[in-house]
Amino acid sequence: MSVLIYAENAGGTFKKSVFEAVSYAKAIADQNNTDLVAISIGDVDAAGLASLGKYGAKKVLNVSGDKLKNFINQAYASIIAEAAKKEGADVVVLSNTFSGRGLAPRLGVKLEAGVADGAVALPEQNDGKFRVKKTAFSGKAFAVVELTSANKVIALIPNSYKVVETGGIAQVEDFAAATKQSDFKAIIKEIVRAADKVSLPDAEIVVSAGRGLKGPENWGMIEELANLLGAATACSKPVSDAGWRPHSEHVGQTGIAVSPNLYIAIGISGAIQHLAGISSSKVIVVINKDPEAPFFKVADYGIVGDAFEVVPQLIATVKEY
Ligand code: FAD
Repeated sequence: MSVLIYAENAGGTFKKSVFEAVSYAKAIADQNNTDLVAISIGDVDAAGLASLGKYGAKKVLNVSGDKLKNFINQAYASIIAEAAKKEGADVVVLSNTFSGRGLAPRLGVKLEAGVADGAVALPEQNDGKFRVKKTAFSGKAFAVVELTSANKVIALIPNSYKVVETGGIAQVEDFAAATKQSDFKAIIKEIVRAADKVSLPDAEIVVSAGRGLKGPENWGMIEELANLLGAATACSKPVSDAGWRPHSEHVGQTGIAVSPNLYIAIGISGAIQHLAGISSSKVIVVINKDPEAPFFKVADYGIVGDAFEVVPQLIATVKEY
């Protein structure tokens, strides 16, 4: 047995969620006394690739080429599956990101593997059983799934496993995987990123606001607080439906699922569909003027008060530090 981790990059660099996933995959490799191999697709420089050794990768397979610069689900899945076969990897680990969620079922088919996406803990391996704790029902519950197939695919939720530095340097090898014409049916030509914004799925802190803010003109204080905290901004569904904020900020059952260390919810009622997207947040702070707002039931800290008074005070306090 060996373990393969797909290390996805964002514009040529690895984010913290990748180091978490490499650390997690290394722990699985250690559980099974085997080596960890990483695969990177796209343009990451040699130093970046070798740095994966710090978190336990013994070898990094590097796949580059103009056609593979941007994420292409089908092509990336073919390459990762081929790498898994070449390395004899029976466990493939991904980050449970937008691309990881797309790749996991495809790899499941290609490798005839059981898939545990939304994983939040290391697998328990006893008596030949391989069980993974994962989120279920859009984050409303946890399930323990037993993967009974020889090959296994696991997608780890960001912020659910710590980064562990083991201190090595990985050996980097070019890997030329065969792809088919049909792998390139849909190609991303350009990705336009919002400048200076913290990416919501990877954010460690999220400042989120809802209909209690009354209108788009009041988001200045939300953005200011987010900037001061190095946080991403998010919103409830009605807010993005109304066009007050972009749909890319919509969190919940029908939007993005986040798992930051700190989620600050301002003027959001806490409907079950919203909570579905934030339930794996480590600490939840709720600011709402209604003491009966359902969000307070899941809050670690709550402030009953008017957002238009509380948020400026928070901003002033953060500025003092
Ligand atoms: P509201 O329910 O209007 O709540 C506003 C809150 O602000 C209230 O609690 C109020 O007390 C508080 N408030 C008002 N003024 C102030 C003030 N000055 N200071 C402080 N607090 C104030 N919703 C999502 O968010 N994400 C989803 O993915 C999602 N998916 C859905 C899927 C389905 C199939 C359905 C049916 C619904 C879905 N919804 C989703 C909608 C969800 O049910 C709620 O309607 C929505 O989350 C409510 O948004 P809100 O809390 O911003 O607004």
